[in-house]
Amino acid sequence: MADNKVNCEFYNKLKGTKKLSHEDIKLLMNIVRKELSFLIKHNIPPVPKNYEKWFYIFCSLAEQKKELDDLEIIGIYKDVYDEDYHAVDISGEKESVPETLANKFKDIANKLDSSLREIINSIDTHQEQLNAHTDKLEQVKKDVTIETVNEAVMEILEELKKLRGENSRLKNELKSYHAEVISLKEELSHAKREATIDFLTGLVNRRRFERALEDAIRDRKIRHYPSSIIFVDIDDFKKINDEYGHVIGDIVLKELATIFKFYLRANTIVGRLGGEEFAILLPGVELEDAIKVAERLRKIIENREIKVDLKGKEKKLHITASFGVTEIKEDDTVESLLMRADDAMYRAKKKGKNKVEVEV
Ligand code: GH3
Ligand code: MG
Ligand code: MG
Repeated sequence: MADNKVNCEFYNKLKGTKKLSHEDIKLLMNIVRKELSFLIKHNIPPVPKNYEKWFYIFCSLAEQKKELDDLEIIGIYKDVYDEDYHAVDISGEKESVPETLANKFKDIANKLDSSLREIINSIDTHQEQLNAHTDKLEQVKKDVTIETVNEAVMEILEELKKLRGENSRLKNELKSYHAEVISLKEELSHAKREATIDFLTGLVNRRRFERALEDAIRDRKIRHYPSSIIFVDIDDFKKINDEYGHVIGDIVLKELATIFKFYLRANTIVGRLGGEEFAILLPGVELEDAIKVAERLRKIIENREIKVDLKGKEKKLHITASFGVTEIKEDDTVESLLMRADDAMYRAKKKGKNKVEVEV
């Protein structure tokens, strides 16, 4: 965050322990609303790390009262963090959760919710008192005839009416505020629940892939519908990172995803299970055919030239991958199935890599 054009005073306030004022909360709501809709629009998963990074930018824009278009905002992101806005690290999601701003938001939302409830209650009481005063004065007005007193009473009445109007406006404002906090909370947890895409490769993530496996196992049990899975692990991927850097490593991962998307049927589900490990679910495909698919992919990957830009020079990289194939059994669980495929893949590694192995 070296760029001094991007600065968020409010961020420090959030990190501190001071209570937030109404104005602060209003600003916070505005920032969060804009940020969330931007993240959703651009398919950026609102995991804590991303959330915090983008919050900083949207906060800065709000404080400077700047309205930029999306491309300009993405440009700022690249300037500030020196990375592509899609190069999202969701692996750190678990360990960083307690410290993250996202959790803080949740806290704030909870506190805000209960303090707003209190304010609404106290306004109700206040309003009742006001009503009582007004009624009493109306009574006095009837009985007393001296003009000056009457005038004074009229003035007070006007005053009270104004106050009452103000009070109910405030109350309505707070109520809508309260509703907004509730919907914001729901929006956040919904977005978190629904995150199913791995944003580096565009493949489904582990969670979504495992759900697909559950369905396939159920189909096998109930309808005797066969399916197979293929485990894929890039060979010596660490070397690529070490030799050419993480950015090139990421390009290789994306390239592999492109190969899968291009060469596999539309009903095939391809997941990135983590790091350089992928899994493919082939619905309706029995073991023998799944082995053929794996063998074909192995050859395609082996023969693929991955063109990358290395300090202005084009370089052609070659990679290979090891494959483990297995067919879904009736009594499988997601764990037993993945373990079998992993065992097969591991055997392919032990036999020298760039191989397809099968586990029955
Ligand atoms: P093997 O042939 O036995 O599979 O060796 P390997 O080097 O491929 O496997 P290993 O498990 O030793 O290393 C995997 C590497 O993948 C280590 C890690 O830095 C890298 N990696 C994991 N996730 C990512 C990522 O998202 N991007 C990049 N560029 N590298 C990643
Ligand atoms: Mg691995
Ligand atoms: Mg590997």
